[in-house]
Amino acid sequence: MTSPLSELLNLDLSDTKKIIAEYIWIGGSGMDIRSKARTLPGPVSDPTKLPKWNYDGSSTDQAAGDDSEVILYPQAIFKDPFRKGNNILVMCDAYTPAGDPIPTNNRNKAVKIFDHPNVKAEEPWFGIEQEYTLLKKDVKWPLGWPLGGFPGPQGPYYCAVGADKAFGRDIVDAHYKACLYSGLSIGGANGEVMPGQWEFQISPTVGIGAGDQLWVARYILERITEICGVIVSFDPKPIQGDWNGAAAHTNFSTKSMRKDGGLDLIKEAIKKLEVKHKQHIAAYGEGNERRLTGKHETADINTFSWGVANRGASVRVGRDTEKEGKGYFEDRRPSSNMDPYLVTSMIAETTIL
Ligand code: ADP
Ligand code: MN
Ligand code: MN
Ligand code: MN
Repeated sequence: MTSPLSELLNLDLSDTKKIIAEYIWIGGSGMDIRSKARTLPGPVSDPTKLPKWNYDGSSTDQAAGDDSEVILYPQAIFKDPFRKGNNILVMCDAYTPAGDPIPTNNRNKAVKIFDHPNVKAEEPWFGIEQEYTLLKKDVKWPLGWPLGGFPGPQGPYYCAVGADKAFGRDIVDAHYKACLYSGLSIGGANGEVMPGQWEFQISPTVGIGAGDQLWVARYILERITEICGVIVSFDPKPIQGDWNGAAAHTNFSTKSMRKDGGLDLIKEAIKKLEVKHKQHIAAYGEGNERRLTGKHETADINTFSWGVANRGASVRVGRDTEKEGKGYFEDRRPSSNMDPYLVTSMIAETTIL
């Protein structure tokens, strides 16, 4: 079934030699993803070969109206799954015209940590589990839930199949394939405990790549849900009460943790995280206090804890890691709306530097 519109959307541009680059950046709230498109004379694969660009920072709450220009620096390129062909998505960060990073540019701060020789030498790997909730557009109530009411209690929905348990699978699968097409390291996807809630993992990724990839994966999800007229929510606790919140568990390892005897280093790292619990919590997402209650597979926000296979702890070490004496740990504290540039660089800074 092709419509005149979809025929136009699928027009082959190869005769023109030109490509469309969609420049993506993060707006002033820290969760509003923005993008705009421009034509380039031909294919580009190296972000340093892309032109800088600018946007109206007064419209994203990132500059004053009388001095509104913010400059986009292209940082990472991915294939565009919507336009296909040689067209690209470009993850950018933002600077003043004088060349200083704007205050919300957490990527620039993260790069400084990931560029430190001690951090580089440890090749930090991240696996981020991004949870999210799909909402009906007009009522902002989860997909599959009765209007103005509640579904049956949690239990049957996690990794479930069936029309009365899994809501929005086509969106999840379209997103999965689009991420693979784009060249993102998407590691998997699954249905979550709360009906209408899902997860995908970006992993494993190295250093600053984790943040770039998670942001582009979020962008693609926003675009796909836009097509479907569904809202994606990254709120840490979209529904109050006896319903699971949404996290962005961050799995982490260094080269030394992945080697024999690495478990000792994992335990040392966890001790360092404990000392800085407050600072980490402050950077782990807005509204996280509504999620980290000590219930629904979370640890209380005010108390640091860790354990093997314990999903009620702040940090969990997997059974395999314990058995093999090496591997990785899972920081379960970050909320679904966290900034991966902040969270990944902070974990690296606290545990390596
Ligand atoms: P959970 O049981 O918490 O739901 P998931 O399978 O969703 O776990 O996520 C665990 C993530 O950890 C996976 O995405 C995986 O790729 C990642 N991971 C595995 N090994 C490592 C490692 N050595 N360092 C960092 N991340 C890792
Ligand atoms: Mn998971
Ligand atoms: Mn999960
Ligand atoms: Mn997890």
